[in-house]
Amino acid sequence: MCQSCHVRAVSTYRTAEQAGHREGAAGLTTHAPQAARTVMLPSSLDEAVAALSALPAAVPVAGGTDLMASVNSGLLRPAALVGLGRINETRGWQYQDGHALLGAGLTHARMGRPDFAALIPALAAAARAAGPPQIRNAGTLGGNIVTAAPTGDSLPVLAALEATLIIAGPEHARREIPVSHLLAGIEMLRPGELVGWVRVPLLHAPQTFLKATGRTGPGRATASVALVLDPARRSVRCAVGAVAPMPLRPLEAERWVAGLIDWDGERGLAPEACAAFGEYVAGACIPDPAPGEDGSEAPALPPAVLHLRRTVAALARRALGRALA
Ligand SMILES: Cc1cc2nc3c(=O)[nH]c(=O)nc-3n(C[C@H](O)[C@H](O)[C@H](O)COP(=O)(O)OP(=O)(O)OC[C@H]3O[C@@H](n4cnc5c(N)ncnc54)[C@H](O)[C@@H]3O)c2cc1C
Repeated sequence: MCQSCHVRAVSTYRTAEQAGHREGAAGLTTHAPQAARTVMLPSSLDEAVAALSALPAAVPVAGGTDLMASVNSGLLRPAALVGLGRINETRGWQYQDGHALLGAGLTHARMGRPDFAALIPALAAAARAAGPPQIRNAGTLGGNIVTAAPTGDSLPVLAALEATLIIAGPEHARREIPVSHLLAGIEMLRPGELVGWVRVPLLHAPQTFLKATGRTGPGRATASVALVLDPARRSVRCAVGAVAPMPLRPLEAERWVAGLIDWDGERGLAPEACAAFGEYVAGACIPDPAPGEDGSEAPALPPAVLHLRRTVAALARRALGRALA
């Protein structure tokens, strides 16, 4: 028992060579040779924070879909794990001042269900697109955000929604930062901190998420576009995922297209305007190379990059068309 935080250490086991392959009491397995390891299973967020503070070398694990892949490939050797799977308070959502507070422990499978889709349609669409069913059943919103992979499907949606993170720290401390700050590395999680909730505005307006993959069936995004209409602010917000280390917001294209929309009328746009928006977004996110400093002509974009730009243009055009349909 960890004295300071009342969290039960459920297993301490020896290296794989010493013990052979076997499953820990938490149900986690690893093929990687490990040093002795402790797995803690707190039942509240504050207990989990206390466990991390008591064991600074410990790493939090939610669904384990990203973390255990790193362990199995030998990239990560956590001395101890703090499992977040028993924390009920972050598995659902609640309403607060026109926003939804989404628990970091929400799985992709849960977010993909119709009741959630009625609330935040673009996030539900992203969750339904996030990998095969086994991954969606285990993988969580918090894990997707903290891993911050360029291909993380929830990330462009959260960027377009301008969502914020509520972070839990030692001694019941809470602080709030924009998701984009974490993704850009402007603000980081401090030692002992955990993502508790994600605050998302409820816009009550159409929103879309579209993803292109290099294969049929579930796969990582080669490009993705999230687009939300915000009638109260008369704005269109768009974020492009997977083409850069973090989602990109084409702000000028957003402002341009918002100016074309009749917000008090039918909100429709001609197909040519949607196509022009797509090109605007794609050009902003994947710009032409600059001319050489000596005045020489700019090199042409490689064919693969041109193809990616066409993909982004098509996704953005369709996303806008669907949101306005
Ligand atoms: C085969 C496969 C296919 C996949 N396909 C997709 C896909 O199509 N789209 C996609 O977006 N993702 C995909 N993923 C990635 C993965 O499923 C997601 O990123 C998932 O959401 C991670 O959540 P998790 O709960 O499993 O995170 P974990 O693996 O448990 O944790 C990931 C990281 O986040 C940290 N962490 C977790 N929760 C918290 C918290 N509350 N506070 C602080 N830190 C925390 C952990 O310490 C770790 O560093 C795929 C993964 C696999 C293995």
